[in-house]
Amino acid sequence: MKINVLSAEVYNQIAAGEVVDRPYSVVKELVENAIDAGASEITVEIVGGGKKLVRVTDNGGGIEHEDLPYAYFPHATSKLKEAKDLFGVKTLGFRGEAIASIASVSKMKITSKTPAGEAHSLSCEGGKLASVAPAAGGNGTEVTVEDLFFNTPARLKFLKSDSQEEGDVASMMARFILSRPEIAFTYLSGGKVKYRSFGDGLSAALAAVYGADILQNLYEINAQKHGVHLSGFIGNRNYFKPNRTYQSLFVNGRYVVNQTVAAALTNAYAGYLMKRQYPFYVLFLEVPPEIVDVNVHPNKADVRFADNQIIYGSVYSVVSSVLDGNSRALEYLASTPTVASATEVAVLEEKAPIKQEVAFPRAEMSYERAKKELQFEIPIQAGRGSVPRRTFNDETTLEVHAPSPAEDAFEENKKFLLEQEKKKQQKLDPATLAFKGELFRTYLIYECGNDAYLVDQHAAHERLIYDKLREKMERRTVVSQPMLVPFVLEVNAQEFAFLERNFTLLREIGLEIDEFGGNSVKVSSVPSDLTSIDLSAFFAEILASYESLRAIKLADLLKDKLASAACKAAVKGGEKLSEGEVRALLEKMNGDMGLKCPHGRPVAVHVKKSELEKLFKRIV
Ligand code: ADP
Ligand code: MG
Repeated sequence: MKINVLSAEVYNQIAAGEVVDRPYSVVKELVENAIDAGASEITVEIVGGGKKLVRVTDNGGGIEHEDLPYAYFPHATSKLKEAKDLFGVKTLGFRGEAIASIASVSKMKITSKTPAGEAHSLSCEGGKLASVAPAAGGNGTEVTVEDLFFNTPARLKFLKSDSQEEGDVASMMARFILSRPEIAFTYLSGGKVKYRSFGDGLSAALAAVYGADILQNLYEINAQKHGVHLSGFIGNRNYFKPNRTYQSLFVNGRYVVNQTVAAALTNAYAGYLMKRQYPFYVLFLEVPPEIVDVNVHPNKADVRFADNQIIYGSVYSVVSSVLDGNSRALEYLASTPTVASATEVAVLEEKAPIKQEVAFPRAEMSYERAKKELQFEIPIQAGRGSVPRRTFNDETTLEVHAPSPAEDAFEENKKFLLEQEKKKQQKLDPATLAFKGELFRTYLIYECGNDAYLVDQHAAHERLIYDKLREKMERRTVVSQPMLVPFVLEVNAQEFAFLERNFTLLREIGLEIDEFGGNSVKVSSVPSDLTSIDLSAFFAEILASYESLRAIKLADLLKDKLASAACKAAVKGGEKLSEGEVRALLEKMNGDMGLKCPHGRPVAVHVKKSELEKLFKRIV
């Protein structure tokens, strides 16, 4: 057999598959080049999902006209000269592969002008170079890529529909806009402007991507912890999205998907989230370069951290302080509250003295020291049905991926957290708590040694009802109470079929439900703890989501609904409790001060004597 040395053209076509496989990767490479060239304005235009045309125009440094042909050469780069330069690369590109690869599988034209030179252009079709010619144009570079994969039909076949490709380009552009808020981006698809940012900061960039309304729902944070810097925006306690596409994390400027950080965020929010709700965040994590390995996979956007616990601990504690509104949170909120509205900050301030018992180091702690000390520091809310457990045991809130080394680390984290949670049970012996009165007919005051607790009687009651019902549901021992007048509900055929299929489940949770002729059902008994349940609202909610119920378990949904029903049935704040009722409430709580109400609000807050003494300047 004869050995052929492949021509550069063929070789590049083969190599192209590794750099560019889809229109969005063309966009990514070209925009990265524009950023590397120092552009402050970048315009991206696509047609036909980018299959027909991708054009990226920038106002960066440009390419000298005698260098133009070299841009198309494989392994030709202006960003690196010697092997030792590799360790200091600050640019996004350095391999010198992208232009050569894209040019070999498309019709490409580069027009460029440096501030000192004249504009020139050079085109290339399927890897065959034309010659450099004078052109018109201002400073900077315009790269046009037409008919991607026109000469490699096999690759063309693998592309998705125009609209799917467009979607992927759009999310790529959203990430660029968010990660480079100092650059003005314009993104057009099929001649229509889809995104436009003006290079005037992150909150403006967020508004450009998600619309200006989003800002009122976000907190801006800026925190330094354990040598890790976390900044950006997170959704407030009541702002959620139906999926994970509203979550962006940039580690040292690079977009990544990372399980450790994602888990820290999910857990920080867990008390506030219902099923199928996902937090919104755009976060920037700056870590010492030596503790992050970006080379896990060249194309997959993941990173590996030397120590997941520190990353987890830092992110979790910052985000949960901000969400739970403790005094430390004020330090983490960005100093210019462009976003967290004045009232929200006020709420945080009001809550400030009753911060939860979370040991934060006073002095700035280095990464190295943190490594030794953090073991005891990850703040976990303990108690029955507590936050981390719910998330970790709940497969529906964790995406399933093929296992990867990063996932092993995630598993380790999981184990570690569960252990921590067990250790940190916040249970107190109820007998040691002395009742000292109440405030505003809502908060019960308890004293125990040098600690005081304020218990929100409404939240506590909600939680107790909820727990009781859950327990009975699980043991299938719900006691029903017949209604004086049965509740009859008329539904359509599909809804009826759905309800009928779930009669058993509904009966298990204490609703005596039966067919009532035609497409109607009759409820004749309700759980005795929930006699005041609003059945029409309850069914309206279940039926509103029944179409999406195929994928998830109805039981989960019912638990959610039950929780809200419990809250409605619970004693309202403002109603005075008798002393006996107060006692009973505390006994039932069994001294568990880590409880949260079914909606995630804390049931009790802890105030240390020393904190009061500080307020009165008895100690400093
Ligand atoms: P790399 O980015 O890894 O250097 P590329 O193939 O992407 O490799 O680009 C090759 C070279 O072409 C770059 O090193 C740079 O000198 C030049 N170049 C490409 N795009 C631009 C641009 N938009 N502005 C200025 N120079 C560019
Ligand atoms: Mg490049």
